[in-house]
Amino acid sequence: MKKGVPTQGAVIAHQNGSQMSYKNKCDKCGAMSSSTNSVTVPGPRQKYTNNFRCMKCRNQQRVEIIGE
Ligand SMILES: [Zn+2]
Repeated sequence: MKKGVPTQGAVIAHQNGSQMSYKNKCDKCGAMSSSTNSVTVPGPRQKYTNNFRCMKCRNQQRVEIIGE
């Protein structure tokens, strides 16, 4: 079964088969978004990337989730 493992900027909220949802998490100040983003789980050795600006400290944070 596919599995998404965040390496930075995200925390997995739910995972259901090939779909997962995650919350943005700022690695600089630790702030976490209250809303979730739903995306497809990346395949093995593939990478989902995104980025956001932290509302709290304005850090430009990269999101990276690796498929296993
Ligand atoms: Zn922050």
